Amino acid sequence: MTTFPRATFPRSTVLGYPRIGPRRELKRALESYWDGGISRAELLEIGRSLRADTWRRLAGRGLAGPPSGTFSLYDHVLDTAVRFGATPARYQGEDAYFAMARGTDGVKPLRMTKWFDTNYHYIVPEIGESSAFRLADGALDEIREARALGYETRPVILGPVTLLLLSEASAGAPAAFRPLDRLDDLLAEYQKLLAAYAAEGVAWVQLDEPALAADRSAAELAAVRRAYERLGGAAERPALFVASYFGGLGEALGVLADSPVEAVGVDLVRAPDQDLRPLRGKTVVAGVVSGRDVWRTDVDGALARLRAAEEMAGGDVAVSTSCSLLHVPYDLDMETDLDPALKARLAFADQKVGEVVALARLLEEGAVPTTRPAPERTIVRLEWDRRAPYARRAAAQAAHLRLPPLPTTTTGSFPQTGELRKARAALDQQDDTAHDTAQDTDLQSTGRQDSARLAYERLVEQEIERVIRLQERLGIDVLVHGEPERDDMVRYFAEHLEGFALTRHGWVQSYGSRCTRPPILYGDVKRPAPITVRWITYAQRLTDRPVKGMLTGPVTIVAWSFVRRDIALPEVVRQVADAVREEVADLESAGVSVIQVDEPALRELLPLRADDQPDYLDWAVGAYRHATAGAADPTQIHTHLCYSDAAQIMSAVDALDADVTSIECARSGGRVLSAAGGFERGLGPGVYDIHSPRIPATDEITGLLSEILASLPHDRVWVNPDCGLKTRTYAQVEAALTALVAAAKTARAAI
Ligand code: GLN
Ligand code: ZN
Repeated sequence: MTTFPRATFPRSTVLGYPRIGPRRELKRALESYWDGGISRAELLEIGRSLRADTWRRLAGRGLAGPPSGTFSLYDHVLDTAVRFGATPARYQGEDAYFAMARGTDGVKPLRMTKWFDTNYHYIVPEIGESSAFRLADGALDEIREARALGYETRPVILGPVTLLLLSEASAGAPAAFRPLDRLDDLLAEYQKLLAAYAAEGVAWVQLDEPALAADRSAAELAAVRRAYERLGGAAERPALFVASYFGGLGEALGVLADSPVEAVGVDLVRAPDQDLRPLRGKTVVAGVVSGRDVWRTDVDGALARLRAAEEMAGGDVAVSTSCSLLHVPYDLDMETDLDPALKARLAFADQKVGEVVALARLLEEGAVPTTRPAPERTIVRLEWDRRAPYARRAAAQAAHLRLPPLPTTTTGSFPQTGELRKARAALDQQDDTAHDTAQDTDLQSTGRQDSARLAYERLVEQEIERVIRLQERLGIDVLVHGEPERDDMVRYFAEHLEGFALTRHGWVQSYGSRCTRPPILYGDVKRPAPITVRWITYAQRLTDRPVKGMLTGPVTIVAWSFVRRDIALPEVVRQVADAVREEVADLESAGVSVIQVDEPALRELLPLRADDQPDYLDWAVGAYRHATAGAADPTQIHTHLCYSDAAQIMSAVDALDADVTSIECARSGGRVLSAAGGFERGLGPGVYDIHSPRIPATDEITGLLSEILASLPHDRVWVNPDCGLKTRTYAQVEAALTALVAAAKTARAAI
C-alpha cells in the first residue's frame, strides 16, 4: 500500500444533518414543484440555499469538519443509486428521479422501506445482473458549491456494501442472484469517484456503512474486506473514513481494522463497550452525542467514553454524533412554549453540534470526567398477561357479533378532507395566538377558542357520520369511525396523556417531503381521562353494525416518540401499556365490542442483531398483552401491523394473542401467507394496496382471496385493505372498497 501524508481528521464533526429545512422549506418546495407551482430551477435554488444555511449553522457553532452530500431532494439511498447509475431503465427523462421515488402515470415507484430501526424510509434500489453502473456527472458539484462559500467539506456517500445490501434484485434476475454479487463492478465506479475527489484536492471522504451494525454472514464480511482493501489500495484517493452507526460493529470491526482505511466511525451511544483496540493506528471517530434522541448529552459520560477510546485505540480520537442528525429536529431555540425545566434537558441538532464542539475542546484540554457513569439498569422479566383460551373467546365473540364468514373491515382511517385539515390547523393557530399574546387570556378570547373548538368537533362528528353511512352503503361488516379527529396516530394520544410534551417546529423527515413531529415522552405516563370513547360511542350510536374502537399500541407510541432515558425502555412501554389498558376498559364499558390496538412499529424496534431480539420481543409482546388482556371474552381485540416484513416476526405476532390481525400483504402475499401457517386466530392479509392510487378490480381481489383461502382455513380469514385509507381520496376508497366487498361476497358464496 502506498503511504500518503494525510491531513489529520477534524477534531469535531457530525455524520449528517437534517435537510428538510428548519421551516420545512424543502417540503413546500417539493410539493409545489410536483404540483407545477415552481420550476425545476427554482426547486434546485431552494436546495442550494438550504445547503448554504446548513454550512453556515455548522460553522456558526464552531464545528471543525462540516460534511457535504448530506442534503437530498428525496432520499440519500436513491441519490447514491443515481450517482452510480444503478437505476432501472424503465425510469427515463428529466424527472426519472422523482418517478423512482413516487411513480408517474403508468410507472410504479421503486419500493420504499424503513431505514434500519428508524422511522425514516428509504427508496430500495433495484439491481440486476446487467445493471450498468456508471459514475454520473456532477459528483464534485456540492464540494465546489461549499468552497465557493468558503467551506472545506468532507463528502459523505453511502458505502458500496450497504448500498448493495439495501438493494433488491430486479424482477428478471435469477433466483440465486444477490445485488452484492455485483460488488466488484460497483467498486470500479467508487474508485473513479475517489479519484475525482483526490484530483479535486479533497482530504477526507466519509463512506457510510450502517449495514455493519446488523448481523452479517461470513460472505458479507468477506465482501466488506474486499471492498475496503480495494478502495483503500487505490493510488488516487482521499483518506477514507468508514462510518458505522445504529449499533456496534461486531465482527466487522476487525475487518475494518485490517483494511487500509484511515478512520473508522463507531457508535458509542448504542454500543459504548466496543473493544476498539484493533483500531490502533487509525483515527477513531467517536460517536458520543446521540443522533437518535433529543436529550442533552451527559458530558461526563461522553468524556469517559472518549478517554476510554483514546486509551484503547492509541490516542487519535475525534468527536462526532452517533449517527446523522437527520433523525432529530433542527433547533431547540425555535420552541418558545416548552416548559423551561424540560427545555433545559433537551438538545436538537444545532445544540448537539454545540455539544460535539464542546466535547472536542474538553478532550483537547485534557479534561477528565468527574463522575462515574451510572450503571445500566437491569430489566425485570414480567409474566405475560393472559386472556381465556382463544377457542372460548372465539365462541363468545361469534355469538355476540354474529358476523358472516370472511367478514370485511378496514384499518381505521378514512380520507382526511381539506376542510378538516384546515379547521384543525386554524384551531392550532388560535391556541398559538392565545399563548403568545398576554392580553389574550381574557374571557372573551377563551370564549372565542371554545366556540372554535365546538365548531371543529361538530365537523369531526359530521365526518364520522359520513364515514359510517358510506360503510353501511358499501356493506362493510365491522365499521370504523374513520379517525377524523387525529392528524397523527401517535401525536393524538400523546396530546391526551400526561408525561408527553409536544413541539411546534420539531419536524423530522419520514420520507421525501413527509415529516412528523415526534412527541417527547419525558415523564411518567398517565391517562387523566378517556381519550377516544366519545368519538367511538358517537359512531356506534349511528349504526346497528359493530364499530371498532381504534387505539395505538404501546410499542408504536414509544417507537414514534423521543423517549426518556432515565428509566429502562421496557418500563416506559409498560407505563404506556397501562394507559392503553385503561382506555380499552373504558371502551368496553361504553359498549364497544371490537377494539383494535395498532402496532405498526412492532417490527421497526426489533434490534438489528439476532442476539438482542428475543429480549425485545419478550417485553414488547408483554406490553401489548398487558394493554389488551383486560378485555372480556366477547370483546374482540384486533391488531394491525404494517410492512410485510412482519412475516419475519410471525411467532411474536402470534404471541400478541389478538383475536384478529390485519397485515400488509398486497405486494408480497406469499411471504405473509407462508409464515401464517401456525397462526390459529383471525388473520386479514391486506387485499388492497392503499399505497398506490390504483383501484384493484373485483377479479383481482377475488384472485388474492382464493390464494389466501388455499393456505388458511376460511373461518379465520378477514377481508381488509393493507393499511389506513387516510392518504387516499374518497373516490378511490369508494371504488376500491366496492370491489373488496364484492370479492368477499363471491368468495363467501364459494365456501
Ligand atoms: N389505524 C391506523 C390507520 O388506519 C393505522 C395506521 C398504520 O398502520 N400506520 O390509519
Ligand atoms: Zn398500516
